Amino acid sequence: MPSPSTELTKLLDKIRELEEDAEKSRYLEEALRESESYYKSILDSMQIGLVIIDEETRVIIDANPAACERINARRDDIVGKVCHSFICPKERGQCPIADLGQAIDRSERVLLDIRGESIPILKTVTRLQLGGQNYLVENFIDITERKYAEQMVLAAKDAAEKANASKSLFLANMSHEIRTPMNGIIGLTDILLGSSLAGSQRTYLEMIRSSGDRLLSVINDILDFSRIEAGKLELERIAFSFRSAVAEVVEILRIKANEKHLRLVTHIDDDVPDGLLGDPGRLAQVIVNLIGNAIKFTAQGEVCLQVRLGEVPSSREVLLHFTVRDTGIGISDDKRKMIFDAFSQADTSFSRRYGGSGLGLTISAHLVRLMGGNIWLDDSGTPRPGRDGCRKGGDGRGAVFHFTVHLPVVTTARATGDRPPAEREDRVPALAEEKKHRILLVEDDFINRTLAETLIRQEGWLVESVENGRQAVAAVRENGPYDAVLMDVQMPEMDGFAATREIRAQERREKYGHLPIIALTAHAMKGDYEKCLKAGMDDYISKPISRQNFVAVVRRVLDGDS
Ligand code: ADP
Repeated sequence: MPSPSTELTKLLDKIRELEEDAEKSRYLEEALRESESYYKSILDSMQIGLVIIDEETRVIIDANPAACERINARRDDIVGKVCHSFICPKERGQCPIADLGQAIDRSERVLLDIRGESIPILKTVTRLQLGGQNYLVENFIDITERKYAEQMVLAAKDAAEKANASKSLFLANMSHEIRTPMNGIIGLTDILLGSSLAGSQRTYLEMIRSSGDRLLSVINDILDFSRIEAGKLELERIAFSFRSAVAEVVEILRIKANEKHLRLVTHIDDDVPDGLLGDPGRLAQVIVNLIGNAIKFTAQGEVCLQVRLGEVPSSREVLLHFTVRDTGIGISDDKRKMIFDAFSQADTSFSRRYGGSGLGLTISAHLVRLMGGNIWLDDSGTPRPGRDGCRKGGDGRGAVFHFTVHLPVVTTARATGDRPPAEREDRVPALAEEKKHRILLVEDDFINRTLAETLIRQEGWLVESVENGRQAVAAVRENGPYDAVLMDVQMPEMDGFAATREIRAQERREKYGHLPIIALTAHAMKGDYEKCLKAGMDDYISKPISRQNFVAVVRRVLDGDS
């Protein structure tokens, strides 16, 4: 039998144990209180709104001061209400977590304050399990200011786009306004030059012609530059023969080189494929700029164009590497960087010997970048004698420009070289036995009409003229059939697009054959060609009219090759 003292000891131990337990639970309670007050002070002081919702009933069971402030109500006005009264009013029955089973929802929603005013919020919701019950923990921030800033940015973007669109329209109109009179000046000068003239008259006319060309080239540079600025310069994508395109432009440049007694050498490596897809006109523009500069800044020696194949990224595409070397004055080290900047020229003094807008290289750089390439100036500067077919013999250190372009390869190129060879300036009028084609000319501008009529008659064709689209539709109906129509695009009463659509509709109604229609447009903006084709036209001649191109296009259409 245990002694009374043993019993007492046990009892005392038990009491001590109980005291320790009580001490522990006091300690735990204290720790819990501290922890609660720690987290409460965090939740109370934070700027983020927080609400706790019973997932089953959707009733708000707690909200921190930031949430109360956003809702503009006291905690007691919020707790006990269904969450959708304030948060996501439109998502009743479609709560991503409670209704759709998502684990987490992060989204932009709307919060309704106590007065029913909508506030945009960014919120995150997660599920919390406590004592076998599910709760939704929603935290959110007010994004009113961010939304406002976004709207301002969108409005500014919209305004900028509208301004840009009106700039483009202005550009298109300016282009038309400038090219129309230039067409008259250059075209009629050409016609006069083809007639018999006294010596001094011919000299003056040649001067007018060359001044016209220079003016046109400056205007084209400025228009191109504005298009680049407006982000409106886009490239065509047509199949072309690379060698024919290069040969065509080099032949024109050769005239200038010959005048200065410079040799113009071109070398295209044999492995460069001929059928390519791209914008031959814009590629030619870069070549004209670089070779034109090389000729301009070289007094003696030669200019050399070389084309090699770069690393091929795929069999369907080529990287072409062009090099243009000259033996001219060269470019000093301090000017190397700035020459690619707009309006920059190495020599800006009043005594400078060379004309130009200073835009050519900027435009070229942009064009080659659009073609996926690059342009740079060789830092070695001096062309090496005997290399790459270029001979030394110049007056300075010379300049060496490089540029690259990426172009897709085509197997069935509609090559420029496939077209009928361009007519020579001095070609004799068509022979009498050749069928006299009847051409309807639709042109509102008197000077341009005179010019086109003269060119048509000089080819031995017959021409009838009308002054707007409405008259053209009537002429086709009443005086046809014609072999072709030359249709100005911008005309009073009825423009060229509308007239073409009307003529095509007439053809379908009356079951006439197809009447070839060639657009005469002074816009020369990207998309004009597509617009002409869409309106039902067959081809397109850009103003100012070059006699060579005019005759080639009309012949092609008359021969049914278009
Ligand atoms: P510009 O219409 O003045 O020729 P570019 O942009 O084509 O405009 O050329 C800018 C400048 O770069 C020229 O004015 C000239 O100073 C310099 N430059 C370009 N090409 C050559 C070259 N082949 N030799 C010497 N200087 C050149």
